[in-house]
Amino acid sequence: MISFEFTDSQLEVQRMARELAAKKIIPTISEYDRAHKYNPQLLKDMGAADLLGFCLPEKYGGMGMDYISLGLACEELEYGDTSARVVLSVHIGLYSLPVCTWANEAQKEKYLVPCAKGEKIATFGLTEPAAGSDAVGIQTTAVKKGDRYLLNGEKMWISLADVADYFLIFAWTDLDKKKARDHKGLSAFLIERGMPGLTTGTIHGKLGVRAGNTGYIAMTDVEVPAANLVGSEGEGFKIAMFCLDQGRYTVAAGSTGLIRACRDACVKYAHERETFQKPIAEHQLVKQMIAGMEAGYEYSRLLWLKAGWKKNLCEPNTRETSLAKWIACREAEAAAANAVQVHGAHGFSDEYPVERFYRNSKGASIYEGTREIHTLMQADYALGFREDKPLRTHLPIVEQE
Ligand SMILES: Cc1cc2nc3c(=O)[nH]c(=O)nc-3n(C[C@H](O)[C@H](O)[C@H](O)COP(=O)(O)OP(=O)(O)OC[C@H]3O[C@@H](n4cnc5c(N)ncnc54)[C@H](O)[C@@H]3O)c2cc1C
Repeated sequence: MISFEFTDSQLEVQRMARELAAKKIIPTISEYDRAHKYNPQLLKDMGAADLLGFCLPEKYGGMGMDYISLGLACEELEYGDTSARVVLSVHIGLYSLPVCTWANEAQKEKYLVPCAKGEKIATFGLTEPAAGSDAVGIQTTAVKKGDRYLLNGEKMWISLADVADYFLIFAWTDLDKKKARDHKGLSAFLIERGMPGLTTGTIHGKLGVRAGNTGYIAMTDVEVPAANLVGSEGEGFKIAMFCLDQGRYTVAAGSTGLIRACRDACVKYAHERETFQKPIAEHQLVKQMIAGMEAGYEYSRLLWLKAGWKKNLCEPNTRETSLAKWIACREAEAAAANAVQVHGAHGFSDEYPVERFYRNSKGASIYEGTREIHTLMQADYALGFREDKPLRTHLPIVEQE
């Protein structure tokens, strides 16, 4: 049965996230964005609103909400600013849900429960200076010495790198497979701030997501207990792709919120601004741009809802998630470019939010699979070169009302 109604608990999450965006993000965001400054209070506010662990199982300190609720929260947060949605993308999408799915009970007790309760913040480190789209091009190694692994390498462009307490890191454990570029030589590790040899830093001078922290993680002989290996040796690539399925979903839903923010800003401005003795809302070419935002919003939303529906059923959803992410990011970029256009010269200044939307929209076509990577994925599904198969484990099952 298909229903376009949200449940009461989904609406409650939406309401909480919308309120947080309205009260805690929108009033101050231009100040932080302009100063390229991360706002540490935001994490506290998100924690206080129970937004850091709400879709993790109650057994691990979360609230057991479903994946549609996660999408709704992302939409509302990115309506406020992309930097807020990015927190959910890394902390929940790329880290907590995968740890809940792939880690053992002892690892979950230590590295998931504090995240679900909002006491610790976590992120995901795959990208390196020389490898982003080409994940098997990473150079970080994890060499086993007794009951430890020695990690060496550098992760780059990592959201919340300089803020997070826990990191899910990918490294080669099989050096022959590294040489052969065989992804079965990659493994995933849980590491934490404070481990000797681990340092982090912030990247400055970004085009967008200026109010968010993005940085690097350097590892020099970081001794990681063997007990921190997630899954088995050689499962790292599968785990990384699983992480991306959840992260991309949050980006799809978030970008949908950005399209709505563009549309709302333009609707307001188009009624206020007059040219040729009438509001610009009455000019057909302005209407055309707003109509594009309206359509982009509606179909981006349907696509992430479909992916979320499959997640709720614990069915493979890489194909649907990739499509939702690709289209929502494409539409968000188009909507933000047109939002600047609708505002004319005012849109070119930070007096209005649309220039921030424009800069922020660009990042989402790069991270979590570039526009080109998703284009290729969708072509490969259509051509029969690629198909989704069930994994040995799946997302936490959620109770549905
Ligand atoms: C704000 C921000 C936050 C990020 N956060 C994180 C994070 O938390 N964790 C993390 O691990 N990473 C993160 N990233 C990194 C991000 O995932 C990578 O930047 C992304 O995967 C692209 O990799 P790259 O930048 O190395 O580009 P490259 O892979 O070098 O690609 C360069 C260009 O070539 C194109 N290209 C590459 N391969 C192909 C191909 N086969 N066919 C056609 N075109 C191709 C790409 O589409 C792109 O246009 C973040 C990046 C940004 C900008």
